[in-house]
Amino acid sequence: MFALLHGSRAETLHLACDPSTGLRAVIAIHHARMGPALGGCRYLTYVDEESAIEDAIQLARNMSYKAVLAGLPLSGGKAVIMRPVHQPDRAALFEAFGRFVETLQGRYITAVDSGTCSADMDRVALHTRHVTSTSEEGDPSPHTALGVFAGIRATAMARLGSDNLEGLRVGIQGLGHVGYALAGHLHAAGAELLVSDLDNRKVQRAMQAFNAHPVACETLLGTPCDILAPCGLGKVLNCATLMQLRCAAVAGAANNPLSSLEMADQLERRGILYAPDYIINCGGLIKVALQHRGDSAATIAAHISRIGLRLTEVYAHSQAHKRSPARIAQALAEHLLNVG
Ligand code: NAD
Repeated sequence: MFALLHGSRAETLHLACDPSTGLRAVIAIHHARMGPALGGCRYLTYVDEESAIEDAIQLARNMSYKAVLAGLPLSGGKAVIMRPVHQPDRAALFEAFGRFVETLQGRYITAVDSGTCSADMDRVALHTRHVTSTSEEGDPSPHTALGVFAGIRATAMARLGSDNLEGLRVGIQGLGHVGYALAGHLHAAGAELLVSDLDNRKVQRAMQAFNAHPVACETLLGTPCDILAPCGLGKVLNCATLMQLRCAAVAGAANNPLSSLEMADQLERRGILYAPDYIINCGGLIKVALQHRGDSAATIAAHISRIGLRLTEVYAHSQAHKRSPARIAQALAEHLLNVG
């Protein structure tokens, strides 16, 4: 575990176990010097405790990168709650999590993430004020989707020579909070959508609302398209799946879609442009961070719209230095963290 902390340069790891509610939770904080650590709380099934801890640590580092590249005065943090085998009292579980967050006295601020929703954050808010994306503040996912949409435009421009998405084939893996909202923006811009989700009801909804074409989960990655947008869980692009890709670019919302940085090099060698996850998916973080400090909706929208510009700069450096955008973005984030 210490090797994992050291490898990701995470600083602290906090664990909570509350048998009365079934809570087993991890909070990882990365590079705490930049300000309070803000990052979502996942509520998912994990095969074991090690994978939950690993997820929290890696995601906390990504949150640091996300914040520093977006110019936000925040550190990276992430919480993971291991979904109990037996159906728990969800309200009690999230209240217990709220008490856990409160013990950190503001060093970590939580938010929604995969498997959690604003109603869960309302429960958390009964015990701590270090929480965002409650029902009152709203779900940040639509803002994440807006940022990913801006990033897809910039990616299309860099790889295909135009940011006009009319007629472009976009494969979306995962139609959850972000994927579904992204599908709406892409459909409005005239893109043709190829969609998959583990939950067939979400696929049906996208077919009806956006005229999307359904694709089986196991074949989406290998389906020819212009842009592949992973919007499900992480590590979907690995040694086993990378060779299946038949797209010009990968640009989606999922955190850590690559199993390792070497995958980015392989994408580069294959001429597939990769939009670094922590640049393209930072719209939700921008929203919660700026809303938390009282900025206006117009300021938030303007900040999110700059995501495309940041990606364009990274792509230009990538081309000039013949290194993958993922390596360029990581080097830039590490540099900013070190001088910050
Ligand atoms: P979500 O849980 O609402 O949706 C994820 C969807 O992906 C679900 O519908 C699930 O069934 C589907 N899915 C999972 N694995 C799949 C697979 N192999 N094939 C097809 N479908 C699959 O989560 P979300 O909030 O939409 O977030 C999606 C991703 O974006 C996550 O990786 C998350 O960490 C990342 N992200 C989310 C936000 C946000 O604001 N919600 C911000 C930044 C990053």
